[in-house]
Amino acid sequence: MLTVGVDVGGTSVRAGVVDGDGAVLDTARAATPSGEEALEEAIGSAVAELASRHRIAGVGLAVAGFVASDLRTVRFAPHLAWRQAPVAERISQRVGMPVVLEHDANAAALAEHRFGAARGAKIAALVAIGTGIGGALLLDGQVFRGAHGVAPELGHLRLVPDGRPCPCGKNGCWERYCSGTALSTTAVELLARHPGQSTVLAREAMGDPRAVTGRRVAGAARDGDPLAQRAMADLARWLGDGLALVADVYDPEVVVIGGGVSESAPLFLDDARERYAAVVTGAGHRPLARIRTAQLGDDAGIVGVATLARDVAASTARNGRPR
Ligand SMILES: [Zn+2]
Repeated sequence: MLTVGVDVGGTSVRAGVVDGDGAVLDTARAATPSGEEALEEAIGSAVAELASRHRIAGVGLAVAGFVASDLRTVRFAPHLAWRQAPVAERISQRVGMPVVLEHDANAAALAEHRFGAARGAKIAALVAIGTGIGGALLLDGQVFRGAHGVAPELGHLRLVPDGRPCPCGKNGCWERYCSGTALSTTAVELLARHPGQSTVLAREAMGDPRAVTGRRVAGAARDGDPLAQRAMADLARWLGDGLALVADVYDPEVVVIGGGVSESAPLFLDDARERYAAVVTGAGHRPLARIRTAQLGDDAGIVGVATLARDVAASTARNGRPR
């Protein structure tokens, strides 16, 4: 049975046909339109394009936003047009197939649990480090959502009292210190204090400080730039501190580190593990979570939500109605 997973992000809509082994067989993509109707139209067209080439049993949407716990309504998505929108119903009418929704980090965690780095783990957490931090928690392979469907907001755990301001309205959130954005902020701060430490980044920042992106800092660290390496060491330290908090609350068996920044894991992950092992409560007297990088890369959201769509389609076929 084939299903389609659609990753609905702030910049692009990416759809993929996924088989029962989690392999992506075919893809279609479009830029994310700003209006509600246009967005649903773009998703409908991507699915129709794939359905013209494959026999599809169901569709899942991985959404960067809050999804109601019935997996049919998008409550709020900061970078998308939907507000309290019955998205599953609307897309289902467009494509003539059952549709299920899931938060993108939850979808990625489900994929890593079924096919990737968290395979077989009873308690697994996903920390997706990109522009910010996306978090997910699986208990016995099931998504933990909390009482109102918004848990776990790992990126906004306060690590630094009176620290860097966060768009969420608080200060000192984890993702202000451990993300692609944070790498850039830290590098620019370090440049102001030690301009001589990185002639390369200093020259680039002089042209336009926005040129010092997280990706650029990671590249410079890889090339041996001392200031970029300091920024990377700073990220590793905060990653370790945050992971210790996550472990104190959930005591996971595995923590999967995903997101765009995880592509640079060789530059920070060993240091982060060391820091985590040193600062977790009861350090030295408790088993530690395995901290692994994600295996499914950019496709994790598509694979996870397509797998969810397969489970729904299979249960509909058995019981004659959706779960
Ligand atoms: Zn925050």
